[in-house]
Amino acid sequence: MVCRSIDELDGAVADCRACARLVAWREEAARVKRAAYRDETYWGRAVPGLGPADARLLVVGLAPAAHGGNRTGRMFTGDRSGDVLFAAMYRAGLASQPDSTRRGDGLRLLGTRITAPVHCAPPDNKPTPDERDRCRHWLIIELGLLAPSLRTIVVLGGWGWQALLPALAESGWTVPRPRPKFGHGVRCSLAPALPGRGELTIFGCYHVSQQNTFTGRLTPAMLEDVLVEAKSTAGLR
Ligand code: SF4
Repeated sequence: MVCRSIDELDGAVADCRACARLVAWREEAARVKRAAYRDETYWGRAVPGLGPADARLLVVGLAPAAHGGNRTGRMFTGDRSGDVLFAAMYRAGLASQPDSTRRGDGLRLLGTRITAPVHCAPPDNKPTPDERDRCRHWLIIELGLLAPSLRTIVVLGGWGWQALLPALAESGWTVPRPRPKFGHGVRCSLAPALPGRGELTIFGCYHVSQQNTFTGRLTPAMLEDVLVEAKSTAGLR
């Protein structure tokens, strides 16, 4: 698959049906629906990344939620995790408004893009290793398209960290050996291994899941601190 632009990539991702289990799950969730959303038409497809093609900062999550991104068609949109993330991005100056409710609500991400290593909602929020590996080619294409501008990545959670490092190695950056370990506040720099790439700094941040935000493991201030540091490192004002 060759994608010459981010728009082309986003369209191709939305049409992907490569993982039989995930296609069945996302479509069943869209058909059965959660009671609170029974009058809505679910997206029910793979959820593309969100944000400009010349982003300097990339936020990497895990996968869409069955009644969040799989419902609205937009990453982190329609669930509590997204509420926490977009509010922090707004405070950090990375989003034009503090909430993201649906496609077409006017939200603009500022110098920043959001994506995930797996683009379809998985049962129990747990993609299999096969599904993660099958979806990696979309992430590699996305990293390649963003490469001319990309300077920092904020990775939400250890699962995303593990999924991202091989994709970075295949996308033209040198991943240190042994591989850097995930932790909240961890940061590491990757040298470019191909022309047209700059030095890339990746930041670890606890995931914005309710499990972390409800327990105080990740506070809004902790998330905002990481985003502000990544923004500054990316040269965004
Ligand atoms: S998870 Fe990725 S590879 Fe699998 S169907 Fe969805 S978009 Fe395609």
